[in-house]
Amino acid sequence: MTLPPRQTGPSPNSATRSRVLGAEFAVPRVRQSILVVDDDPVSIRLLQAAFGDHYAILTASTGNEAIEIAVSDCPDLILLDAMLPDIDGFEVCRQLKAEERTTVIPVIFITGLDAKEQQRRALELGAIDFIGKPIDLTILTLRIRNHLELKLYRDFLENLTLLDSLTGIYNRRAFDEILEREWRRGRRATTPLSLLIADVDCFKRYNDLYGHPQGDACLRQVAEILATTVHRPNDTVARYGGEEFAIILPETDRAGALLLAEQLRERVEKQAIPHEEGGPSKCVTVSIGVASLVPDDATKPAFLVQLADEHLYQAKNAGRNRVY
Ligand code: GH3
Ligand code: MG
Ligand code: MG
Repeated sequence: MTLPPRQTGPSPNSATRSRVLGAEFAVPRVRQSILVVDDDPVSIRLLQAAFGDHYAILTASTGNEAIEIAVSDCPDLILLDAMLPDIDGFEVCRQLKAEERTTVIPVIFITGLDAKEQQRRALELGAIDFIGKPIDLTILTLRIRNHLELKLYRDFLENLTLLDSLTGIYNRRAFDEILEREWRRGRRATTPLSLLIADVDCFKRYNDLYGHPQGDACLRQVAEILATTVHRPNDTVARYGGEEFAIILPETDRAGALLLAEQLRERVEKQAIPHEEGGPSKCVTVSIGVASLVPDDATKPAFLVQLADEHLYQAKNAGRNRVY
């Protein structure tokens, strides 16, 4: 039996999510993941064999293991056996629904065939669906496909609110959230956090010379260069506003941040987007302010932004097309 795919649209949970999605926000199909929770190895193997071709399958044989994997891997769907050796499926579901990171993951319960009471409890706890044992694989396959498709749409819409419609990279709202999160992470781990703010030089003149639509196209190009130059999975490139971009670099010290900033500046210049009044090079350039610190209780993320902004101002004053 080979039913699935019938997917449409991207999933923000996917590791393959592209940084620059393009204006139409269309990305290739993603391989969604299912966490199968069952203490019976035979059932696990059966489900793995049935769905492994179309989805990435994670497995857990106890309730606690299931919660651990759900939190760390955020699967797109959980198939949860009601009866487990440690904490039962209902308790697992309750804990998943109480946790911010896992509350959105759809849970399908596997219950006794005529276990009306179990099924009612499962739905009350927030499960999206249930299927009775012994499992009818065709029905389960179709249900899984439907639920995963809905999950895909929901992820897609959620992701849209975090993306800048012009460039397809993260917007200001996403930037604020991610900076706050990375700040907390850096504080816990006492690791440095760096921030770059890149501002397109003489961009008002660019619009005046070439027109606003061409200005928009230029911003898209710059966004793409920035987004494809950063390389660590946790680095974030966002449109901070107008012709300003912000790049959050977790676990990166000042030296590393300066190095990357210089690479970014250079790549934009090398792209040689013509700008008659863009300074000596006669092409589009950016100035970049760099700030780096180890987050602590005494300061707030806004301080890092203020520092990077001040340094950007100094890069502009020093003649533009440079890193400060
Ligand atoms: P500087 O080198 O000091 O940064 O000068 P600048 O001209 O780049 O800076 P200024 O802040 O004076 O002008 C920014 C310009 O960016 C003005 C505004 O029209 C333009 N801009 C902001 N957002 C957009 C946008 O979404 N599309 C286009 N085409 N232009 C934009
Ligand atoms: Mg500006
Ligand atoms: Mg500017």
